[in-house]
Amino acid sequence: MGKTMNPWDRPAPEREGLPSAWSLFPEELAALGCPGSALETFRRLHRPWTWKDQAPVLGPVILPWLEGVADLRLPRIVERQPSSDGSTKLALELGDGKRIEAVHMPRKVRNPRVTYCLSSQVGCAMGCTFCATGSMSILRNLQPGEILGQVLTLMADLGPNRGHELTLVFMGMGEPLHNLDHLHRAIRLLCHPAGLGLGKGRITVSTAGLVSGIEKLAAMNPRPNLALSLNATTDEARSRTMPLNRVWNLARLRQALDVWGLRRGEKFTFEYVLIAGENDTEADAERLSAWLGDLRRGHNVNVIPMNEHDASPFRQPDENRVQQFSDWLKVCGCFVTVRRSRGRDVQGACGQLVKGK
Ligand code: SF4
Repeated sequence: MGKTMNPWDRPAPEREGLPSAWSLFPEELAALGCPGSALETFRRLHRPWTWKDQAPVLGPVILPWLEGVADLRLPRIVERQPSSDGSTKLALELGDGKRIEAVHMPRKVRNPRVTYCLSSQVGCAMGCTFCATGSMSILRNLQPGEILGQVLTLMADLGPNRGHELTLVFMGMGEPLHNLDHLHRAIRLLCHPAGLGLGKGRITVSTAGLVSGIEKLAAMNPRPNLALSLNATTDEARSRTMPLNRVWNLARLRQALDVWGLRRGEKFTFEYVLIAGENDTEADAERLSAWLGDLRRGHNVNVIPMNEHDASPFRQPDENRVQQFSDWLKVCGCFVTVRRSRGRDVQGACGQLVKGK
């Protein structure tokens, strides 16, 4: 960042009320009186491959000006847990000392790709009974600069070096649509061509079924991919594990997907956490297929064997049942992938993230 005090060492009163430098668009930097090119300043802030010593190179004029009008702290890594499958779970500390988690998941394919699983809130208000985050309740929403800051911190630390190798999934701590305005501002910043320039198709937002949020996101631009965490096939069972279903039931949720109005190239993803003895029968597979209706074709159902954790009484199904359940779905005409959650051995897998304080 240049010769200056580490932004984390700056006295709190000096930072109070300042926006995150990473939450500002070029025109907002200009409106704050940027003493140089606001677009170039934005570019330097948002492109970690141009940074030195894990901080943007801003120069002797821009840096002191920016320190006076914005908070230059990014979430900082306070713990890292590499998994035997190549992924790394990271605990990140925010400006107020609260902690969130993110998971870095490199994929070994011909063109290297890295997926980040990101958080949108500290904790979660949705209270899904199979989820470790749900057991800690909601502490607060993440600010746009904190949502985006997770991406920049992970890039600077573990790569990749360019935005085009990156895929983002909001499946970490929190219900993203419960913090939609901040999330969407972060998405617009992530897609900005002078920053990381991510395509909207590289971003997936996963919801537990917050219908008001789905309907609002449907009309937003850019519109990311939508993943729906379904996990049960009757209202009774779904309300038991996902209390949100008591507000918006399965029929209402299905209606919201029709209203979304899929555009060319867009697909939904359906996540189904398979729980032994809860939602893993042939009748469940048939009901799931009937609920999907037209969406059976071309839209993937990810069957995710439950990740056990101390805060949940539910158990993981055995391997035979996982296979059998996905076969039943295929017989009903569904596209199915059995998804082995990554980071399972370090509690970084789906439904296992819990780090707020
Ligand atoms: S599964 Fe998602 S929505 Fe449900 S409690 Fe966990 S983080 Fe929240």
